[in-house]
Amino acid sequence: MSRTAQSVWENCLEFIKDNIQPQAYKTWFEPIVAVKLDDNALSIQVPSKFFYEWLEEHYVKILKVALNKELGENAKLVYIIKMENTYGNKQPFTEKIPSSNRTAVKAQDVDIPLNNKSPELRNPFIIPGIRNVKIESQLNPNYNFENFLEGDSNRLARNAGLAVASKPGGTSFNPLLIFGGVGLGKTHLAHAIGVDIKDKYPEKTVLYISAEKFTQQYIDSVKKNNRNDFIHFYQIIDILIIDDVQFLSGKSGTQDVFFHIFNHLHQNGKQVILTSDKAPVDMQDIEQRLLSRFKWGLSAELQSPDFETRVSILKNKLYRDGVEMPEEIIEYVAKHIKTNIRELEGAIISLIAQSSFNKKEITTDLAKQVVEKFVKNTKREVSIDYIQKIVSDYFQMDVDTLQSKTRKRHIVQARQLAMFFAKKFTKASLASIGSQIGKRDHATVLHACKTVDNLSSTDKQFRKYVEDLTKKLSV
Ligand code: ADP
Ligand code: MG
Repeated sequence: MSRTAQSVWENCLEFIKDNIQPQAYKTWFEPIVAVKLDDNALSIQVPSKFFYEWLEEHYVKILKVALNKELGENAKLVYIIKMENTYGNKQPFTEKIPSSNRTAVKAQDVDIPLNNKSPELRNPFIIPGIRNVKIESQLNPNYNFENFLEGDSNRLARNAGLAVASKPGGTSFNPLLIFGGVGLGKTHLAHAIGVDIKDKYPEKTVLYISAEKFTQQYIDSVKKNNRNDFIHFYQIIDILIIDDVQFLSGKSGTQDVFFHIFNHLHQNGKQVILTSDKAPVDMQDIEQRLLSRFKWGLSAELQSPDFETRVSILKNKLYRDGVEMPEEIIEYVAKHIKTNIRELEGAIISLIAQSSFNKKEITTDLAKQVVEKFVKNTKREVSIDYIQKIVSDYFQMDVDTLQSKTRKRHIVQARQLAMFFAKKFTKASLASIGSQIGKRDHATVLHACKTVDNLSSTDKQFRKYVEDLTKKLSV
């Protein structure tokens, strides 16, 4: 009989089941789906990055033993991470992680393919310090002003963006900080400004980069001992666009280097454009001197679009895709998805896909089903603040107590639960969770996750906490 991914995996599961706690088996192994078998490489699909990290952290040994039994000494395990994403039925977010034959796979070995909304990064990046290189702007031409529709919710930000694009460095909007919630168009607008500048001033050097990537590059430069090259590289940019600067929170080294780059650019009349999911006053763990720089220019908020704007965004998208849809369906979708343009688009795309795959007509009923799915998913996207609030309410304490340094057992447990759920329900890194929950470090968060996992398989009362809170956080 030829072996399939499923049959191999089933045998592995049998072995694993006999060797670990039933609760742990249920939590960490039942959700896994075996998807592919190539010679001695088995690909399994896991529901989140956290899941993958957890497996590698806790179960790598048993996985290895099980796989070696099934596929021999050279067995390999490939993880495919499939997250419920906010794009509806589009491409799952996948990553392949070569595993096995070593004790653990470090995070930096993870290769994350770009999703299709990201700009194409042909070269991974220009090597800092090499002069006269042609700097690729990393801009996505599909994110431009023409398809960034104006409404009350974005008028100030959009017009400030246009002003900056026509006179980069020459307005008082320097830096221009665009802030607002998830999926409201920060990245789109930031690219649009860059794209417009490139049209008007082709000779200017524009660079778009996410704060996360900027941070990685900086850390690499420190490791490779070329921090100065890194700084010089950024100082020759004419228009620097940094997306999601909230990512710099708690990273004092990167903040420091950014502060120097910023000052240099600003003094030389270069334009800086930043985006953030929070207003400067609400940013945590960002140095004061940097925050005060952010306030030098203009902070413009992107708010949730009103109904008319949502309808126009949908119509515009349909028009560009050459799809016709009944007016009442468009209005139905716009009426029910209110706070996130990405989800608005996702719902429409999903609707088009459903109707064409199933050869169904697009009816209000179909729209209802799709929208319900999206609204549910939206609610699942919880913030760390929200988690802390729910957990402290549950234990009848306030958030300050939960975050405090006390070692009282019930408070420590509440804090550990908050960390555990933050890891489970958000995409935040261990370090960022730690910094938001009482300024702890990543090791504390990891320890908290382990403790919660252990306690919930040994302590009945504690398991009840986990179950109750899971319910509260999932509705
Ligand atoms: P953010 O960076 O704030 O999370 P994005 O810039 O990724 O949000 O925007 C999410 C989606 O919504 C993108 O596909 C973007 O093109 C679309 N979008 C946002 N604002 C507008 C707008 N004003 N007009 C048209 N599309 C928009
Ligand atoms: Mg963005």
